[in-house]
Amino acid sequence: MTLIDTHAHLYYDDMYNNLDKVLDDALNNGVEKIVCIGTDLNTSKQSIDIANEYDSVYAAVGIHPHDSKDVSKDYIKDLETLVHSSEKVVAIGEIGIDHYRNISPKDIQQKVMIEQMELANSLSLPIIFHNRDADKDILDILKHHPFKRALAHCYSSDLSFAEKLLDLNVLLSFSGNVTFKKSINQSVIQNITLTDFVLETDCPFLAPQPYRGKPNEPKYVKDIATFISNLLDIEFEDIAMQTTKNAENFFKI
Ligand SMILES: [Zn+2]
Ligand SMILES: [Zn+2]
Repeated sequence: MTLIDTHAHLYYDDMYNNLDKVLDDALNNGVEKIVCIGTDLNTSKQSIDIANEYDSVYAAVGIHPHDSKDVSKDYIKDLETLVHSSEKVVAIGEIGIDHYRNISPKDIQQKVMIEQMELANSLSLPIIFHNRDADKDILDILKHHPFKRALAHCYSSDLSFAEKLLDLNVLLSFSGNVTFKKSINQSVIQNITLTDFVLETDCPFLAPQPYRGKPNEPKYVKDIATFISNLLDIEFEDIAMQTTKNAENFFKI
């Protein structure tokens, strides 16, 4: 059995201070590859450092919508330098739009997402985007700006939006929130195919049931896969195999 955690923030203190154990526990639960995702220049650099140290970890570099208000005028150049600093950088992310909190002004979020898409394209890298209450903006941007491959991280919109993304060849990613009661994701997963999605923890946030509210870790990808296996009545091995293949193809890892 092999699983991949396509979205982890391993540089948070609790995990970072126990990283050997966290990655061992992941491996013991079948999680053989983990993509560590930056949210600003600093955490992007930390993600690369972790990826350089651990074989099983890869890195994505990018500016999160919350942080887009703080970018310097050279941030795209800085991101490009980070990409070239390590072979383990496999994507630009997380980028995106968040209208749930709007911590950065809307126009700046859009500008910074688009500039990073252009960077990803120039480097032939895929993008990982965050979308909270921003379906319309995200769709607009994806329709008008080219991208190599795109991943909708922590998918939490409805089925009709999922179909619109799938039409654009966007891959979906489900986190522990699929396991929450009344999760809209359950009806989405039941109506798409196994080639349409990958799995992630988004750790340390969003631990799946029955660990909800506790610190999340990459090892819990196994619990998410088990939940989906029961939901779809498909063998666990088939869920693991196909989502792993999807992630390997997407990140070329
Ligand atoms: Zn996110
Ligand atoms: Zn994230």
